[in-house]
Amino acid sequence: APRKLAAGNWKMNGTLAALAEIDRLLADHPQPGCDVLLCPPATLVHAAAARAGHIAIGGQDCHAQASGAHTGDIAAAQLVDAGASHVIIGHSERRSDHGETDIQVAAKAVAAHQAGLVAVICVGETEAQRDAGQTLDVISAQLAGSVPEGATAGNTVIAYEPVWAIGTGRTPTSDQIAEVHALMRQRLSDRFADGGDVALLYGGSVKPGNAAEIFAIPHVNGALVGGASLKAQDFGPIIAAL
Ligand code: 13P
Repeated sequence: APRKLAAGNWKMNGTLAALAEIDRLLADHPQPGCDVLLCPPATLVHAAAARAGHIAIGGQDCHAQASGAHTGDIAAAQLVDAGASHVIIGHSERRSDHGETDIQVAAKAVAAHQAGLVAVICVGETEAQRDAGQTLDVISAQLAGSVPEGATAGNTVIAYEPVWAIGTGRTPTSDQIAEVHALMRQRLSDRFADGGDVALLYGGSVKPGNAAEIFAIPHVNGALVGGASLKAQDFGPIIAAL
């Protein structure tokens, strides 16, 4: 069975002072019933990893190349060197802010795998795509294009994040999430020998108040949490609900 994972994405938030939230999480949840991952800004990865205890630390992006003339970018091996075990790849904000394509996302995931990182690969439809009835086709295409051949249950996690649910307070219905997660499970099982064991996360306006309901949906193995991962008082109850 897939491992359960409560993952936090701090996005472009936080300075060194924010690492006190990690101390609070460790104190409040010394033995959580799931894996816990925090992905702070790159500037904080090293310091976060040094005090994270059982909490895994990840980056929010990596470059497809191992090194070279790419000003401002970060290589997967550099994240490993800083103490990261995971990296988010293909978040919708990377796809929209930086024009990342499925092909680029897949190349970054390969780089992450080669460096020994778990790639948390993100997919999700826009509101216009959902309104046009294209959601399942969009997710299928993103999975086919963004998840590389070498993916295994050990090196890959998939996060379904509807673009219109991110940071909006809006979430799909449980039936809508179930439909997409069942499709993702089917596609991964068709393609990979251990596709049934790849952890599938839901992301988009997950809060303490809706986490239990979302975690009860078939094939939802955890969450990728943005805003509610910034404070231990919010992320803690989500961890406890999983
Ligand atoms: P919110 O939880 O703030 O909606 O963000 C979700 C997200 O994008 C996590 O990667």
